[in-house]
Amino acid sequence: MKLSVIIPVYNEAVTLNDIRELLFDTLSSMKHAWEIIFVDDGSQDGSYQILKNFAEEHPKQITTIGLRRNFGQTAAIAAGIDHADGEIIILMDADLQNDPADIPLLLGKINEGYDVVSGWRSDRQDKFLTRILPSRIANRIISWVTGVYLHDYGCTLKAYRREVITGFRLYGEMHRFIPAYAAHIGAKITEVKIRHHSRKYGKTKYGLERMGKVILDLITVKFLISYSLKPLYLFGGIGAFFSFSGILILFYLMSRRMVIGISPFSSPLFPTSIMLVILGFQSILMGLIAELLARTYHEAQGKPTYTIREIVKDN
Ligand code: UDP
Ligand code: MG
Repeated sequence: MKLSVIIPVYNEAVTLNDIRELLFDTLSSMKHAWEIIFVDDGSQDGSYQILKNFAEEHPKQITTIGLRRNFGQTAAIAAGIDHADGEIIILMDADLQNDPADIPLLLGKINEGYDVVSGWRSDRQDKFLTRILPSRIANRIISWVTGVYLHDYGCTLKAYRREVITGFRLYGEMHRFIPAYAAHIGAKITEVKIRHHSRKYGKTKYGLERMGKVILDLITVKFLISYSLKPLYLFGGIGAFFSFSGILILFYLMSRRMVIGISPFSSPLFPTSIMLVILGFQSILMGLIAELLARTYHEAQGKPTYTIREIVKDN
């Protein structure tokens, strides 16, 4: 079993030496084969040169990927995954807030048979109001919406069995939703408490605006997880609801006309009902287009609509 540790780096020159040493200490004390993949995400502080030297000094253990510009943490992680060849993929931040010494803990759970082991910063060392509180709220919402209950989606330090994460592409800020995707294709998930240190060097690359992006990404993820195979169930459902309400109102107006003789056209309910019926049909038609897209998506990539754990067959 080989481990691939993937580390996205954006302007973290000061911590790189330490993180390499700590990783070497931990990884070489383990009985597995391993590699470290640093992905430089367009740093401007010389991080890339340092990482390049690492790869030259330790060609067997370290791979350095330099992106052409700053594409964001998720893209950097995706690049790392694309170039990793371990069966176990471990993601980690480069700022020393995660502790490489926790890797054996994650691996222990993988050995127990889990496919995804999520780090949980139970004693998180960040500002309460701007980091911990928003993150707690976000974790509650994400857990509730995806149905995958984790305490700490935002923690990068997580371990994955390769086959549960290579099946989909990562967009936007979506690396944090990998566990939800993995659960969707049937992965077994657990979490372990890990250490967390305050950021001693450099500064965080994010502010509160990330909250907005995460919420929007959550909507996408929920849609993809629940409806990417049958979008018509969503659009058709909404459409049917609209049309049905419109038709009900129309009936009401007609019967009022027949019983007490009020003209339906004088009521504001009339244009409302017509609008609802039209909206409803629109939504159903949109659902049909989405069905076409879903088929193109799966068929163009030769993606099956299921995932296999294993095949047992007697030849
Ligand atoms: N990072 C990156 N590209 C970016 C922003 C961040 O590769 O555009 C890396 C960064 O170097 C660090 C990790 O992603 O290794 C997490 O970033 P940060 O520590 O700033 O986030 P926080 O821990 O504050 O959520
Ligand atoms: Mg950090």
